[in-house]
Amino acid sequence: EIILAIETSCDETAVAIIKNGTEMLANIVASQIESHKRFGGVVPEVASRHHVEQVTVVIEEALVTAGLTMEEITAIAVTEGPGLVGALLIGVNAAKALAFAHDLPLVPVHHIAGHIYANRLVTEMHFPLLALVVSGGHTELVYMKEHGSFEVIGETRDDAAGEAYDKVARTLNMPYPGGPHIDRLAQAGQPSIKLPRAWLEPDSYDFSFSGLKSAVINTVHNAAQRGEELAPEDLAASFQASVVEVLVEKTARAARAYDVKQVLVAGGVAANQGLRSALEARFQNEEVPLVIPPLSLCTDNAAMIGAAGSIAYRKGTRADWALNGVPGLDLEAQ
Ligand code: ATP
Ligand code: MG
Ligand code: FE
Repeated sequence: EIILAIETSCDETAVAIIKNGTEMLANIVASQIESHKRFGGVVPEVASRHHVEQVTVVIEEALVTAGLTMEEITAIAVTEGPGLVGALLIGVNAAKALAFAHDLPLVPVHHIAGHIYANRLVTEMHFPLLALVVSGGHTELVYMKEHGSFEVIGETRDDAAGEAYDKVARTLNMPYPGGPHIDRLAQAGQPSIKLPRAWLEPDSYDFSFSGLKSAVINTVHNAAQRGEELAPEDLAASFQASVVEVLVEKTARAARAYDVKQVLVAGGVAANQGLRSALEARFQNEEVPLVIPPLSLCTDNAAMIGAAGSIAYRKGTRADWALNGVPGLDLEAQ
């Protein structure tokens, strides 16, 4: 089957065409980063307007890239949520219009299920598996006993990892999105500044990053009051070390406790070089295989929605014309 997938949950207008769940015939991502940069973050209304302007253009570009016409498409998959409601609605309505006009099935996809299924574009999935989801809005450990089944065994109690990266970057006067900047800076620095690690209760797989974020901000302010200036690359390296250590340790512990066959990593923060190399180093000593998708499949894209959409399509998941964008869509209820 050939799925045309649409993703507009945040600030990327993305359309992909995926054959049999794994083969990428097209994967187009129109980023709006430049438009949001001057505001220091994503402005929802600006995002919606861009999606309106871009979505049909990107759909056309995907079809041209794949060398296909709509007559060759089997189904339309679209991100139903979570995300910005105005942004989601553009994708959902574009998907509905296409499905209606071409008499095709409409398949709703959860954005985080999509992030996890990015892994299916690079490898076969072996169950039960554990997915570490680290993105702009989510930080969770997800246990999957089979396709389409999601159990959240741990999640952040406050900020998401990507959110912490972006907020710390703003404190250090770096442009949005801050994650890649901190990552680059950290590679040139030493983790020499003492910052906290939130382990929480000994048996908990939950995360917390707001205390770390505050500690970075306080450290910067206290140094400034003493008339000192901390080396930004050391600050970045110290912050990153704190985030990465907790993520890696809890993932490895959960993988053992749940006796999984595979560990997948997903979401924008999975593009982080420090996290990637720390996970790889740690899992060299574990029996379970670790999979991390290439950078372009970690950040928002529609190929991942097509990969998840293929599984949902085969399971018979369908939306009707009442499909809406759902900002707080629940992963476990999928
Ligand atoms: P969600 O998927 O939770 O709805 P989102 O779609 O906005 O949120 P993603 O696009 O998956 O999030 O990821 C974006 C986040 O990833 C941003 O917070 C960004 O700073 C972070 N990020 C991207 N690259 C890196 C990197 N190299 N290091 C750290 N963080 C990064
Ligand atoms: Mg984004
Ligand atoms: Fe995302």
